[in-house]
Amino acid sequence: MAQGTLYIISAPSGAGKSSLIQAMLKTQPLYDTQVSISHTTREMRPGEQHGEHYYFVSKQGFEAMIEQDAFLEHAEVFGNYYGTSREAIDQVLATGVDVFLDIDWQGAQQIRQKLPTARSIFVLPPSKEELDRRLRGRGQDSEEVIARRMAQAVAEMSHYAEYDYLIVNDDFDLALSDLKTIIRAERLRMGRQKARHDALISKLLAD
Ligand code: GDP
Ligand code: ADP
Ligand code: 5GP
Repeated sequence: MAQGTLYIISAPSGAGKSSLIQAMLKTQPLYDTQVSISHTTREMRPGEQHGEHYYFVSKQGFEAMIEQDAFLEHAEVFGNYYGTSREAIDQVLATGVDVFLDIDWQGAQQIRQKLPTARSIFVLPPSKEELDRRLRGRGQDSEEVIARRMAQAVAEMSHYAEYDYLIVNDDFDLALSDLKTIIRAERLRMGRQKARHDALISKLLAD
């Protein structure tokens, strides 16, 4: 069994990475692709569920997990803690499932150092005006939170060149198709294909 691929997706808040990941997951069976659920100390948005969008924990709870070395990576983003727990990721990858991490550039740097085989994707919005429109259009954050996220957008975007792939999310369907193409191409790499078609290759090469 070949290992699954670990994908990192980053983007300025509002560029559409959650929408792209959710749309992609709908087209992939659970045994092919999963998204890692992060821990966060931020407030729950209306409609969010504990254990589905995030594990919502207190600052003390998060700090206790840092002490216990429970995180593969963690970072402070927009004044809150966010982190990916080690639990599950390694075991899931070992079963051949691809795992997606929706994390910021600081987390991406930590993961690249620890797991150099991870693939990373950066999502850009088509313009600053559109990014602002999408953040407001989502209608889930306060004016203050939106202003803080817009102010951080350039800092997040300045890290785009550290990633393996770049998607501009202008037309949503096209961006989704780009994301699926990246996954498909990674699955066609020799290591994965060799493991998947082991029996066929043995037969074809037998005298
Ligand atoms: P999150 O809650 O911030 O993580 O965002 P979600 O990924 O849950 O998506 C928020 C909303 O975006 C959902 O209601 C989707 O239906 C909507 N959405 C997805 N694709 C598009 C698109 O191409 N255009 C527009 N305008 N909305 C979209
Ligand atoms: P992120 O996860 O990067 O913060 P979201 O996925 O929540 O961003 O998207 C922010 C908002 O932009 C959502 O309301 C979503 O519906 C909208 N959106 C995402 N992609 C597009 C697109 N290509 N065109 C128009 N609106 C989009
Ligand atoms: P949001 O509050 O909009 O869900 O996420 C805010 C930012 O935190 C996004 O840039 C997102 O990628 C990042 N983020 C979410 N989970 C994690 C995580 O586990 N680790 C890191 N480093 N960043 C995260």
